[in-house]
Amino acid sequence: MSRTDDKDLKGNFKPQDAPHYDDVLQCMRCGFCLPTCPTYALTGRERSSPRGRVALARAVAEQKLEFTQAVKEESFFCLDCRACTTACPSGVRAGEVMEICRSQSHAFYPLGTAGKAFREFILQKMLPSPEKLETSMLPTRLYQRLGIQWLVRHSKVLKLGPGWMEKAEGMLPELDKPLRTQLPERIEAKGKKRGKVGFFLGCVMTLMYPGVSRQTVRVLVHQGFEVITPRNTKCCGAPHLSEGDRQTARELALFNLDLFLDQDVDYIVTDCAGCGASLKEYEELLEGQAEHAKLAKFRSKIRDITEFLAEVGLRTEGLKPVNKTVTYHEPCHLCHAQGVSAQPRKLLKQIPGVELREMAEASWCCGSAATWGLKYSEESQKVLDRKLGNVRATGAEALVTANPGCHLQLAWGVREAGMPQQVLHLMELLGEATPD
Ligand code: SF4
Ligand code: SF4
Repeated sequence: MSRTDDKDLKGNFKPQDAPHYDDVLQCMRCGFCLPTCPTYALTGRERSSPRGRVALARAVAEQKLEFTQAVKEESFFCLDCRACTTACPSGVRAGEVMEICRSQSHAFYPLGTAGKAFREFILQKMLPSPEKLETSMLPTRLYQRLGIQWLVRHSKVLKLGPGWMEKAEGMLPELDKPLRTQLPERIEAKGKKRGKVGFFLGCVMTLMYPGVSRQTVRVLVHQGFEVITPRNTKCCGAPHLSEGDRQTARELALFNLDLFLDQDVDYIVTDCAGCGASLKEYEELLEGQAEHAKLAKFRSKIRDITEFLAEVGLRTEGLKPVNKTVTYHEPCHLCHAQGVSAQPRKLLKQIPGVELREMAEASWCCGSAATWGLKYSEESQKVLDRKLGNVRATGAEALVTANPGCHLQLAWGVREAGMPQQVLHLMELLGEATPD
């Protein structure tokens, strides 16, 4: 068998969690992806383009290149926004290839003792435990409640630290009690019942945007769905995939898979685009580790909330008018990773009083991308400025999105730029239209 016939070629990759050779072979170097890639737009550098990144991975697989520092850098510099996959005629998934290369990066270039301990503490101790996450937010809530945040922000003390620290602090929304322990595990449908839905409450949603997910559940109930929100739901694993810890991501996926299949629900719905993308990819992540039939059943039930409501049909009778002009930013993990693009717009147009003004480049990344916006704060600012320019041009009163990572970045950006737009999750808008 020639080397290029070997579909599982690992070459200079470590055998555990190497990219599939097929995935890098598909690239025909046409370059259609180049204009869609934010990091290529920033640098003009081939190696920071989807085509260049896939070529690097292919060279490692074919033993023409060691897994060098440059491969490591590109794996983390990629936003994993998946815009290139939408554009690619061959279906090349450069973002996913780079995501897998991040776990290779940790295998080839292990962190020092302190860095490793910190990483393991966050990914393996904190994130898998909803209770620990909630406890960890208590000091931050006190920091806000006791006025220390006001003092810190006005003293400019954060300017003395690294740039990411000031940005991270500035992005914090006003925190409320986490939603997870407040939400009943089962809520009956209102009116004529249309089905039973399992609600996947994401970590960032319960901790940072409990008001959004409260509206999501209210809307589902009002739309005629019984809602089951299992209290012991764990993190979907997206942060682990993003940081190259595929083993913990698998453990979390196996747990959530069984938890939700046991609920015997018709659908599993989330209002976090990042969680939705991750849940839809369990099938691939758990290949060979869970029964195929179980994985397929789970996959068939997962919906983003906008996708779900558009599919079942929004009951619009009784909705109150929300008189607002809005523009819509498409989260990458909704439009590129899940192919959900028309549905949020369909819903926006069905809310009485809402006028949708399309922005240019609505599906261009906002520069958040999990921790990318903090690690590459200068580059992130440039990506964000491009987005805010497009928002400003619409003159809309509100900027609507559907993912907490985008929400945090856009709300911070709008405030820093002194722009008047309110930043809202689509479910907040629909919640406002939904009567009690
Ligand atoms: S990744 Fe796709 S779009 Fe980009 S060069 Fe390769 S085949 Fe063309
Ligand atoms: S996922 Fe995004 S940043 Fe990464 S190569 Fe594709 S377009 Fe570029």
